[in-house]
Amino acid sequence: MNVSTSHTAHKVNAATAFDHPEFRNHEQIVFGHEPVTGLKTIIAIHDTRLGPAAGGCRMWRYACNADALTDALRLSRGMTYKNALAGLDLGGGKAVIIADPSTDKTEALLEAFGTQVDNLSGRYLTAEDVGISSADMDVVGRRTTYALGTSRTGLGDPSPYTALGVFEGIKAAMRYRLQKDDPTGLIVSVQGLGNVGFAVIRYLHKAGAKLVVSDINTASVERAVESFGAKSIVPTRAHEVDADIFCPCALGAGLNSVTIPEIRAKIVAGAANNQLATDEDGERLRRAGILYAPDYAINAGGIISIALAGPRDEDTLVREKTVAIGDTLTRIFERADAEDRPTQVVADELAEERLAAAPLSR
Ligand code: NAD
Repeated sequence: MNVSTSHTAHKVNAATAFDHPEFRNHEQIVFGHEPVTGLKTIIAIHDTRLGPAAGGCRMWRYACNADALTDALRLSRGMTYKNALAGLDLGGGKAVIIADPSTDKTEALLEAFGTQVDNLSGRYLTAEDVGISSADMDVVGRRTTYALGTSRTGLGDPSPYTALGVFEGIKAAMRYRLQKDDPTGLIVSVQGLGNVGFAVIRYLHKAGAKLVVSDINTASVERAVESFGAKSIVPTRAHEVDADIFCPCALGAGLNSVTIPEIRAKIVAGAANNQLATDEDGERLRRAGILYAPDYAINAGGIISIALAGPRDEDTLVREKTVAIGDTLTRIFERADAEDRPTQVVADELAEERLAAAPLSR
């Protein structure tokens, strides 16, 4: 998970929020406090041109309030792009609760957060994220109808849908770069065998791919070796495997000036958030001839499942939209090649084009 922990120089107040490097045209930032429960929350609404701002709520013990603001602003803008590119009629927003989920999480605190969300009258739709489970969303949902992914509105754990989108993205990249329709015999190095990574290797194994797996959790690695005949490798060397595809499903910033020259795969396509350490690393991958599936495009299955699930079982609709991630990636790859530009720059541009065409465009 990518959580900012570094102290920033910015003190939190309205004036500095406008000057904050991550401010980037946010529509609204709400600093919420509730004295009885001790709730301290920041709800950042970046853009509502496509619809209500949707994005999870993260509970984290931030080193300082300024870090919480930085995280909220950075993540809410990211949701604008992710939701736009996924074809959802939703804007981008994010909430953070400044608290330790292992010691401070109480039902009263979650309810107080629900009231804060409700006060925004639907401009912000909340959901689970780091430190907040779908069971917690049920508690938040006692005070607001603007909570997604509750047992009343959701399809449950979003990870299986994220994994489906990653599998479809891998197939799209494979078709595009390797001119292959069938993963049989292709070697895929998967780093991280958590909720998403393990579901991805299940799809890949069924489709006939050969797996090289890695995780700091040795029990998951053993399970993959036993269940799917995978080979294992230490996580720090996962990117060096002589594979067709490298699939990062653990932490962010794994694609950087040190690792990229060591990557032997022709494709990088995985679920991890914020895979590029810097924007230059997208260009570095392009120059190395490696096709990169932009992370927020390929890992959108989870938000699609949370956003589109209603009181009835909307699994079919969610699956259709998630499978379409493959088509979106193909469009990105084609334009990036035609214009000799990094794929993540083209992904941003496609999202911006959709935003600019929105009826509420500013
Ligand atoms: P998870 O916590 O279930 O799994 C992460 C796995 O990575 C764990 O098995 C952990 O042991 C392993 N890991 C941690 N550090 C590692 C390291 N240094 N090297 C190798 N393995 C390491 O998380 P998840 O839900 O499977 O999510 C995986 C990634 O996908 C994360 O970056 C997450 O932000 C992103 N993502 C997840 C979803 C979702 O629906 N769960 C949606 C979008 C993006």
